[in-house]
Amino acid sequence: MGTVLLVIGLGWALLGVLNLVGGLGELEKQGFGDTAKGFALIFNMTLLILPGLVLAGIGQGLRRRRRTAIAPSGKESPTSDTTVCPFCAETIKRAATVCRYCQRTLPVADQHPPSLG
Ligand SMILES: [Zn+2]
Repeated sequence: MGTVLLVIGLGWALLGVLNLVGGLGELEKQGFGDTAKGFALIFNMTLLILPGLVLAGIGQGLRRRRRTAIAPSGKESPTSDTTVCPFCAETIKRAATVCRYCQRTLPVADQHPPSLG
């Protein structure tokens, strides 16, 4: 989509430039004055070249946004079943009481001790 807009926009702007150059040559040939040339310049600039460049800019923006949208799959993050060892920062199971990487006893934070009552 972005590429299509970019190509159409650039083509539109190019059409405006060609139309402007050709039009000015034609006006010159037919003996029109500077007022007619100025009008042709403004007409082509506002209706063809500027919208074409804006369209191309939008297309370029869409292309860039899509490229950045593809995020690289990062390092595996802790899920609900796993947690990160506070000693060695490795991902371990949440139910573990001893880290399998550094063999240290883990503080049991989210498990309440059984009530003696
Ligand atoms: Zn550890």
